[in-house]
Order: sequence, then structure tokens, then C-alpha cells
Amino acid sequence: MLDELGILFPLWMQTVRVRFDPEDKDNVAYMTADKEYRRCTIRICPAFLELSDWQQTETLVHEIMHNFNAPVGDAAMDQLNTLYHDREDDEDINRVLAYKVASASIARAVEGVNQDLTYMIMRLLERQKTKQDPG
Ligand SMILES: [Zn+2]
Repeated sequence: MLDELGILFPLWMQTVRVRFDPEDKDNVAYMTADKEYRRCTIRICPAFLELSDWQQTETLVHEIMHNFNAPVGDAAMDQLNTLYHDREDDEDINRVLAYKVASASIARAVEGVNQDLTYMIMRLLERQKTKQDPG
């Protein structure tokens, strides 16, 4: 399945590792990327195995799409952390709340864009599948 999706990875990525994490009951799958080493690791959790083929593909596409929007989200979080560098010891509740609201907003924006990218790819895959098997 990942072979078919290989075209979706950014060009800078040279190595894709897939690991099964039998202990993780909280996630379906998740990905970590290391741009310096040009690699990513996709971790598959037990819940992933319960999904249909189409849902598994959608999950993998979602994780792969994070390679494209994670740098924007990371940059926004870096800026936020620069502004609120001492948030751990911050006694100003307004600053703590502002940090939490802003970081949640960034996370929502990243996931929203990611979903849009995922749906776009899934529509293209569906169209491609229909052309190959019109019956
Ligand atoms: Zn996500």
C-alpha cells in the first residue's frame, strides 16, 4: 500500500520506516519526520488493523500529508514559544491562557489543512480507481 502512496512523499524524504506499535491504544497511526536525516517513521497502532483498506489508505495519506504542513505548524509554534519563552514559570494567567489558546489554534489549523489535503488526494485516488475499474 505504501508503494502506491510513495509518490506523495516530499522529494527531500529519502527513507520511510514503518513500525508497528502493539502497545499504543490511543492512536491509529502517527508519523514523525526528521528533515535533517531526510527520513520519516510511520507508526502503525493496533486500531489501524481494524480499518477497511480504504480507511487505512486515508489514514496513511493523512500522515504523509503532515510532511507538508508540519513545517508551517512547527514555525508557528517556534514563534509562539519565542514569545512565551518562560511559560512554564509564568504566573500571569492571561499569558498562560493566551499561549494555550494560540497553540490550540495552530494545531487546529494544521489538522484542518491536513484534512483538506487528505480529502483532495482521496478524491484523486477514487477517480483513478474508477477509471481503472469502470464496472
Ligand atoms: Zn493529523
